[in-house]
Order: sequence, then structure tokens, then C-alpha cells
Amino acid sequence: MSNGIYYNFADKLLKLSHIHKYFSKVIGYKKSKKMGLSYPLYKFTINPNSKAKFCIVAGVHGDEIAGPWSILELMKRPKFFKKEICYQIFPLLNPTGFELRKRFNDKRCDPNCLNKKTLKSKNYKEIQSFYQEVKDEEFEIFISMHEDLDQDKVYQYIYERDFEPIYRKLFKNERKWKTGKIYGDKSDGMGLIKNIHDHSLEDRLFSMGKSKISLATETPGELSLDKRISMNLNNLKILNDYLLLSITLEQ
Ligand SMILES: [Zn+2]
Repeated sequence: MSNGIYYNFADKLLKLSHIHKYFSKVIGYKKSKKMGLSYPLYKFTINPNSKAKFCIVAGVHGDEIAGPWSILELMKRPKFFKKEICYQIFPLLNPTGFELRKRFNDKRCDPNCLNKKTLKSKNYKEIQSFYQEVKDEEFEIFISMHEDLDQDKVYQYIYERDFEPIYRKLFKNERKWKTGKIYGDKSDGMGLIKNIHDHSLEDRLFSMGKSKISLATETPGELSLDKRISMNLNNLKILNDYLLLSITLEQ
């Protein structure tokens, strides 16, 4: 049964959205027979008419809570949002997992999967609602904020052929890996894992040409929630500054 933490969280977002005049939209509902509820899925848009688009996603895995809480913090800071950039924010894509404090959704399916199968299956309504919103978009930057609850070190999944300098600026003080492999995947030796084609949202948005830069960040669950939120906010600021600078240079 639901204990209402999702509604409570969504209510906080909606209040902030109202105060700061962000645009909010219900992009679909995640119905759960098991939990006896239908959860609205939200998207917040800021500066809808700006050309350069920055997409921020969190809460794909229900027990990885720092991402959604980072978005809540971000939405308290209207100065973060630059008028030159259109922000499309999906604060929590897996409400049933969030309520149950589980990685997967109420159907025990992993919502971090975008492909022909999940776009047809009734077990992936979250992903279908998300895809409707992004299928005709072209983003400059797409970030999905994840967590590795068993780690004390950060890492990232990226998709470029080369290790772009921008990725090295993220988690600047926390890139403490000294190994060439993370969970068997090849990394740059400092926490950048490249081109894992796993049908994750970040993989698909990159390979379908929907985002120039696409990545997933993994904050370590062994550090405090405050620390993980501050890492995410730092990363978002770095990406925001980078995008703003590239727009200014193009003009
Ligand atoms: Zn995750």
C-alpha cells in the first residue's frame, strides 16, 4: 500500500512551480493495481520558447532518491535557469518504485529501458509517457541522475567516441577511481564508462540522435544525502554554464 511519499514530494514540486511560474504538465499516469492508486507523472518546463534544450531526468530507479531531491532543491533556485535555455525536467519517472523504496517499478520491471518491447508493454507505462514527450525533441544536453547505493565513489556513463572535457569537469573533486574497470565495464580509470549500449534512456537518446550530450551520473549511496544532492547540483551548474557558454560563442 501507498504511504503517500510520492504525493507529498509531487506537492512540494507543484508549489514551487506555482511560486516561480514554471510550466507543469501531467504527462501520463502510472496506474498500479497492486498499490490501488494512479500516480500522475510530471514534467516541468522553464523558458519553453528558448532554442537550446536541456533535459534533466531523475527517479528512474525508485530507491535512488538523491536525484529527485536534487531537482526539488534546483526548483527552489530560479536564478539557476537562464533565459537562453529551455529546461525540460522529469523529476521522478518511477513513482511506484519511489513509494516502495525499490529500484524497479511495481511490476518488478526496470524502467531504465527504452526499446520496441518496453514501448509496447503495459509494464512500462512510465517510459511510454516519457517517450511521448521526448520523441520529437532535440536536446543539447540530456542527464539522468542515478545512484549506486553500494558505492562510496562516483561514476558516469557517457556515449561519445572521445572522452569530452566537459565530463571530466563533473564530480571534479570526487573522481576517485583508480581502476580501469567498473563492474566489468571499461572506464577511463577515473570513473567515466563509455558506450555501454544497454537501452537505458541515456543510451537511447544519444544513439537516436535526440541529444548531443547524453549521460547518466551515479552518486554514491554510502555518502550522506546532503552530499549527494550537492554533487548533483554542482554537476547541473557545470553543464548549465557549459551550455550557456556554447550558445554565447555561437552568436
Ligand atoms: Zn539507477
